[in-house]
Amino acid sequence: MDQVSVVTGGSRGIGAAVALRLAGAGHRVAIGYERARDAAEDVARQVREAGGTCLVHQVDTSDEQQVDALFDAVREALGPVTGLVNNAGVTGPLGRFAQTPVEVMRRVVDVNVMGALICARRAVLDMSTRHGGAGGAIVNVSSGGATLGSPGEYVHYAASKAAVDAMTLGLSKELAEEGVRVNSVQPGMIVTDIHAAMGDPQRPWRKSDRIPMRRPGQPEEVAGAVAWLLSPDASYTTGAVLRVAGGL
Ligand code: NAP
Repeated sequence: MDQVSVVTGGSRGIGAAVALRLAGAGHRVAIGYERARDAAEDVARQVREAGGTCLVHQVDTSDEQQVDALFDAVREALGPVTGLVNNAGVTGPLGRFAQTPVEVMRRVVDVNVMGALICARRAVLDMSTRHGGAGGAIVNVSSGGATLGSPGEYVHYAASKAAVDAMTLGLSKELAEEGVRVNSVQPGMIVTDIHAAMGDPQRPWRKSDRIPMRRPGQPEEVAGAVAWLLSPDASYTTGAVLRVAGGL
């Protein structure tokens, strides 16, 4: 079966590595981005240079209309969607819970929870056999924070990722007979721009003594797990929450 996968936040970091990895495995990929158009185009250039097929699309995943426009554009350009990687995510600045402004918490929940729900909902409408689709798979990019809680750094973000994992469990059961598998990946400390956006670019190395493997991970080390969960090799895997965190 032709695989057509939507990767939200595919312009940078983990999402970019996932898009490249999936394209290398023969998927036609949609690279979603919110603001970093040049970065998204650069990922697309790499996909095409390697012989792959892709689409770049601007989308704020917390907005239902924009998500519908993304999925419509993908169907039109690449064919029926068979996979979604719910990867777009934000943390807000590092800080203690009571010092975190409510607007920051609200945006994190809007993007990480509502965005993932809205994208998954549309993917289900496209992929579920109950709705006339041919089946498919969803991978939600959660975080080790979902079980660690991230005290002193971003409790609101950890809570948003625990919500993502709850969605994975519920949806995996609800869709098990409809040809759609749903799984989560929980990255640990991965070297991407997200740490600079939190206000601490050196965080992955500063905190590496906390990691049993004593080093941060690379985006490609997460992309392999995501690609496997979307592949036919994972045909009996649904409702799994796969930690990719160097032992953390
Ligand atoms: P990143 O380098 O900061 O990239 C974030 C990506 O999400 C970008 O492509 C960004 O688009 C996109 N994005 C942000 N808000 C969006 C929105 N409202 N709508 C659509 N796209 C949006 O982050 P990353 O480290 O690769 O993180 C990717 C995922 O892994 C996130 O869900 C994150 O929570 C999770 N994670 C990361 C780590 C880590 O240590 N890096 C650990 C655990 C979990 P633009 O490029 O256009 O801004």
